[in-house]
Amino acid sequence: MKFADVILPVPLPGLFTYELPETLAAEAQVGCRVVVPFGAKQTKVGMIARLHEQPPADATMVVKTVKELVDREPILLPTQWQLWQWISDYYLCTIGEVFKAAVPGKLKSLTRPPRGGEDSPSFEDIGLADLPSLSPAQSAALAAIREQWQTHKVCLLHGVTSSGKTEIYTHLIAEAIQRGEQVLYLLPEIVLTTQLTDRLRAVFGDRLGVYHSKFSDKERGAVWQRQLSRQPYDIIVGVRSSIFLPFQRLGLVIVDEEHEVNFKQQEPAPRYNARNVAILMAARAGAHTLLGTATPSFESYYNARMGKYGLVPLTERFGQVQLPAVEIVDVKELRRKRLMQGPFSPQLLEAMQSALSADEQIILFQNRRGYAPQLQCHVCGWVPRCPHCDVPLSLHKRSGRLTCHYCGYSAEVPAQCPACETPDLRGHGFGTERIEDELQRLFPAARVARMDLDTTRTRTAYEQIIDDFAAHRTDILVGTQMVTKGLDFEHVSVVGILSADTMLHQPDFRAFERSFQMMSQVAGRAGRRQRQGRVLLQTMSADLAVIHQVVGNDYQGLYQEQMLERRDFNYPPLSRMVIVYLKHRHVSTIEALARDAAVRLRSIFGSRVLGPDEPPIPRVQSLYIRRLIIKLEPSLPFSRARQYLLQTRSELLAERLYGAATIYFDVDPL
Ligand code: ADP
Ligand code: ZN
Ligand code: ZN
Repeated sequence: MKFADVILPVPLPGLFTYELPETLAAEAQVGCRVVVPFGAKQTKVGMIARLHEQPPADATMVVKTVKELVDREPILLPTQWQLWQWISDYYLCTIGEVFKAAVPGKLKSLTRPPRGGEDSPSFEDIGLADLPSLSPAQSAALAAIREQWQTHKVCLLHGVTSSGKTEIYTHLIAEAIQRGEQVLYLLPEIVLTTQLTDRLRAVFGDRLGVYHSKFSDKERGAVWQRQLSRQPYDIIVGVRSSIFLPFQRLGLVIVDEEHEVNFKQQEPAPRYNARNVAILMAARAGAHTLLGTATPSFESYYNARMGKYGLVPLTERFGQVQLPAVEIVDVKELRRKRLMQGPFSPQLLEAMQSALSADEQIILFQNRRGYAPQLQCHVCGWVPRCPHCDVPLSLHKRSGRLTCHYCGYSAEVPAQCPACETPDLRGHGFGTERIEDELQRLFPAARVARMDLDTTRTRTAYEQIIDDFAAHRTDILVGTQMVTKGLDFEHVSVVGILSADTMLHQPDFRAFERSFQMMSQVAGRAGRRQRQGRVLLQTMSADLAVIHQVVGNDYQGLYQEQMLERRDFNYPPLSRMVIVYLKHRHVSTIEALARDAAVRLRSIFGSRVLGPDEPPIPRVQSLYIRRLIIKLEPSLPFSRARQYLLQTRSELLAERLYGAATIYFDVDPL
């Protein structure tokens, strides 16, 4: 009798064994999908991971039968299957969770997709368009990258904003294609794909496939099938999930804006870092990796300094345009003198006024969406909070609602304070909506656009905002961290960072690294052609070293200084970190569980365990959260540590008291 061990998209560990009926046994292969019964009366689409003839050891177990074989050819290559196993091991999640994240919905649903691939167009007569030729600095960087690849699998291109990194990538892609290799170009954000795909499509035409989550399941399923065909795309441009696509002859991986936190999936599992997985995937395929950024992550920079990665600096902007001049605006001082106009300093208003008079564009960055981060009763101080999470609700004026940014709960804005019945409820602080209103009031002739989660729910909405700004149909673009990304606009002469303070004072050891990256990146949007741009950096913490490092574009200074602290406290990249998350509905249970988990983990890992503590938002979606942080020396065998972690979790969950608890791990958290 033949059996198939099947991966199912469920968070239970292990594979599920089914019997293969005679009629299917001959055709079934590893990597083919099957329809199987699951639980009392469900059916699921799974994937064959192993074929064998051993009945389950437990003779009392009822083995169910495969209902249908979906594919005659595998839709998963052996390299992909190995990668899935690695992800499940390393990130401490189930193979089913990897399956769920990896395969587009269309391919997991019970409706049969058409067998794709065969009739894809042929590229034989499609040539590559010519590029602009490179500047001497770009050519030197290109040569240096090739040289670094002689001795390193991975090379870090540390090129200032607007140094023309994309043109360098384009040359490397063209070379790889000429060698008959495939290229994966990873981007952190959907917002970047539009501009970038336009640029790359102009060169590579239909050899380029795009893959991201705003695409429909159908489109994503088609890309997957195409990658298995005899005419796969030569280049895939995509966000993190594109590491899961089949590549038959991968030769080059480019990770653009490699420092971006978005490469890490936070929720749900697998909590993988696509940059790191891509590096591994490239190494296994014998391909090279290029990491590019103006502000490297400390992890990558450390690896480069230690000789693990090659390092290529590119210090001048294309066209030798100067980096923007960053001016510090001391908000504390201006507040004292009562010179602030809402969120705007007189300096920023003046800079904006002169930019608008010269018909130049402006980008304003404020890392808060909505109208105001919280609402407060002016008489008794009452603040509406989310009933499910431990946070104040944000006021959204456009939709007329109070919204929780953690769980999505929303409620109508009350007409009066429920505590003291005063009708005087006021919004506190400035979100992007409110800034948009203020701008309309102060500059009635200016055309203002807003880019944040609320205005970019659809792919076309994103594209519209970016197209309008690129074509100068809008004058001022205000937005959240979305506007800090590697966008390339010609007429932006002024960038305003409205408040650096929330990001600087986050309770996170990476707060300064992050703030530097965000501020330098948004500053880099200014003055990209011809003339030097101006950046006004408003802050209450004008004395902090990191502010001056941004002004001087002093990445080295930031790195040297921050690494001292990382060394003192044994933080990454000098250690490997795992966060153990514990969640439960009852506060007494979570506290008992956290204490118990701490004792057990300390008995194994000793003083490498920190906590338990509460995360910044200690209750989300009605679940109380505690966490334990484990910092491991890189020299320790990490596979052993992972076994201990899994074992501790099983022991804890076996205790009746904690039965309904959730325990999960975040490996290499960001
Ligand atoms: P980065 O990715 O380093 O921020 P980009 O690749 O976006 O920089 O380049 C900045 C600008 O300079 C873009 O508008 C790009 O078209 C232009 N540019 C870069 N290199 C060249 C080149 N060799 N010839 C012409 N234009 C270039
Ligand atoms: Zn009140
Ligand atoms: Zn909530």
